[in-house]
Amino acid sequence: MALEKRTRRGRAKEPNCDGCGECCLYVALEIDRPTCKRDYSDIIWHLLHEGVSVYIDHDNKWHVEFASRCANLSADGRCGDYEGRPMICRKYSLENCTRHSKSKYYAHRFATPDELKKYLGRMKIDFEFRRIPKDG
Ligand code: SF4
Ligand code: SF4
Repeated sequence: MALEKRTRRGRAKEPNCDGCGECCLYVALEIDRPTCKRDYSDIIWHLLHEGVSVYIDHDNKWHVEFASRCANLSADGRCGDYEGRPMICRKYSLENCTRHSKSKYYAHRFATPDELKKYLGRMKIDFEFRRIPKDG
């Protein structure tokens, strides 16, 4: 499991931070690529929770993302503790910034179980457990 910041594809032509705060409004983690019905069921469970989304990046890596504002984010969209910011923030350079990217940071993104189920349907992935009939 690895902490993730969204990253753009390719280098930014004119890197420029406009203080939008977009990179400080979520926590994302890389997760194992699902391979079985139990895995898909777990991801559906993630998506049943408010503020949780899942995306597949351009390298086919899966991530879970929690919408959550960083406590250090100031009202002006700047970091309120720039000198003391965590390592993941220090490593996030303007060249990775997704704000001004023309391409999306994800290849596929799911905000609800239905969005994931439609994707799995298109990919012809059987994710559903069969219902067990009740006796009698
Ligand atoms: S680095 Fe990019 S996403 Fe983050 S605040 Fe600046 S412009 Fe917005
Ligand atoms: S510590 Fe600063 S740079 Fe890092 S997410 Fe929070 S506000 Fe953004």
